[in-house]
Amino acid sequence: MAGKQYSYLLHKNDLPADVDLGPVVAIDCETMGLSHYRDRLCLVQLSDGNGVAHLVQLPPVAMGEGNGARTAPNLVKLLADPTKLKLFHFARFDIAALYKHFGVVTRPVYCTKIASRLARSFTDKHGLKDVCKDVLGVEVSKMQQSSDWGAVNLNDEQLRYAAADVYYLHDLKDKLDEILVREARMALVQACCQFLPERALLDLAGWQEDIFSH
Ligand code: MN
Repeated sequence: MAGKQYSYLLHKNDLPADVDLGPVVAIDCETMGLSHYRDRLCLVQLSDGNGVAHLVQLPPVAMGEGNGARTAPNLVKLLADPTKLKLFHFARFDIAALYKHFGVVTRPVYCTKIASRLARSFTDKHGLKDVCKDVLGVEVSKMQQSSDWGAVNLNDEQLRYAAADVYYLHDLKDKLDEILVREARMALVQACCQFLPERALLDLAGWQEDIFSH
């Protein structure tokens, strides 16, 4: 966005205790793949929306719920903090990945993809790249989406890509909220976001289908 300087900081294992990300924190996750049972969580990106991304690189842990919690107490505390709103784009996946790794349910949350679906019902393009372009006029690269996030040394290209996934979520929320208020759809978004942690837990428990369908 105009006027903002963007940069990232890389941390190992946990967010440093003295990092305060404010009341609304953008979060994104990079994993080894799309299976919560097979693919571990590798990187968690966080931002307060002011242009700095904190990238937390996670060491491999044995698969199983909560095995990663011991080494990341600051991050775990933030995820569960009821006073901090966590912003995601497609929260459903990340909440499940974070639960598998840390054994903690992330809430409260706001999902810019759900918000976009409900605010921008004139389009079916709700991927982060499309929403950033259409709503903010910002180009976000998806070039590194399929790279080895488990690598011991992540390269600058990967880190810059990962950081960009949390730079714009605050600005997106502001713009989408304007439409949602205008169209009286905010209550629907809030109800959907409140349900998102349980939606992610249903995925992990084996109910990946739409349980509301006939
Ligand atoms: Mn990402």
